[in-house]
Amino acid sequence: MVLDRITCPYCGFKGRTSDFYYMYEKVLYIADHSIADEERNRPVLIICPRCGKGFFLEDPYEKVIKSIE
Ligand SMILES: [Zn+2]
Repeated sequence: MVLDRITCPYCGFKGRTSDFYYMYEKVLYIADHSIADEERNRPVLIICPRCGKGFFLEDPYEKVIKSIE
């Protein structure tokens, strides 16, 4: 899937993917003095440059809902 334009669901700002900020949440686990990667798959949070609100491009619960159905 190629993303050309992103629309903010809060203020309606339309911009290119490069106009937005991205935040990736990562949790590190320390086990036996080494860092273990978490196994959870977290989506990237997209932050609107106009209103500053963060949203997910893909619904983080979509995969869970699909696996239940
Ligand atoms: Zn916005």
